[in-house]
Amino acid sequence: MLNRRKVLGGIAGGAGVAGLASPALAKGTRELSMVTSWPKNFPGQGTSAERIADSVQRMTDGRITIKVYGAGELVPAFEVFDAVSSGKADMYHSADYYFQGKSSAYNFFSTVPFGLISNELDAWVYHGGGQELWDEVSAGFGIKPHLCGNNGVQMGGWFNKEINSPEDFKGLKFRMPGVGGEVLRRLGANTLTMPAGEVYTSLQSGAIDAAEWVGPWNDLSLGFYKVAKYYYWPGFHEPASTLCLGTNKTLWDGLDAFDQNAIATACRVENTAVPAEFYFNNMKALETLVDDHGVELREMPADVFNAFGEQTEIVLKELADKDAITRKVYESYVSFRNDVSKWTRVSNGAYIANRQLFLEKLLKP
Ligand code: CA
Repeated sequence: MLNRRKVLGGIAGGAGVAGLASPALAKGTRELSMVTSWPKNFPGQGTSAERIADSVQRMTDGRITIKVYGAGELVPAFEVFDAVSSGKADMYHSADYYFQGKSSAYNFFSTVPFGLISNELDAWVYHGGGQELWDEVSAGFGIKPHLCGNNGVQMGGWFNKEINSPEDFKGLKFRMPGVGGEVLRRLGANTLTMPAGEVYTSLQSGAIDAAEWVGPWNDLSLGFYKVAKYYYWPGFHEPASTLCLGTNKTLWDGLDAFDQNAIATACRVENTAVPAEFYFNNMKALETLVDDHGVELREMPADVFNAFGEQTEIVLKELADKDAITRKVYESYVSFRNDVSKWTRVSNGAYIANRQLFLEKLLKP
């Protein structure tokens, strides 16, 4: 059955740049390039990209091989989108909110403050019209997007100042990029963006008062516990940061149903594997931070969280005004969020709240 496939050599996708493209290597076989926004084999994101490549190779019995490039190897981290759009590379593995400069709509396919959690996001993308909208936005750039994982609800961040009320954000120097950063700015914070390496030294020197990164797993490895007093929970700003495999659309459209299915299935598998890996490692790393490093966990006060919500609604509405397609995506996303919250309230939300009350009694020392 596998040998019935037609030769794919004439299909473009990566054509045009010698050595980087994807010419047929032999009858029915091809090598594709995948550029990523992570260091090669970066735990979580980078290792997932490698698993997608391995999985597609196995499912196609070796006919399709995918060479994975770490950030900067073929193109810099944030140029992967342009590389695939132009056909310089065949696929990118990244998070689409990095490309909000291309369209503000991309925020909604990654994560936005007060947005969907992972099961809700999967429901929207797979069943609630999200994929169709994502296809529409990305087709404009010659890209076919696939959901391929997310790292769940992020932490509120590392602080050297206590947060007791929304007033405490006035003048606070806080590393938080994107839409979340804009929300904090509306509360009077001085928000900054900087790469991981600079966050540590900036917290240490007092150049910033607070910083968010991801969650216990990633944050532990960066050592923030050594330079910040409090670790606040939960984050409002990234409830389900998703990963995307974006494939050059000309290449994608030229693949037959078998090969399209292999890529789509590899992504679907990772969409479960990545959250499981983050959940497990976050659980272990949180234990290490608290038990071994004495990190002080603090809950973000309810009125502060509410203030985040009020500003988020304003910022998201402004985002929707950017252009027609962003408005369309915003309306679908927000109406889905408002509808699904009614189910989440009586299912996951209520169950987890009640289980926690019981466990706190049961596990009391
Ligand atoms: Ca983050």
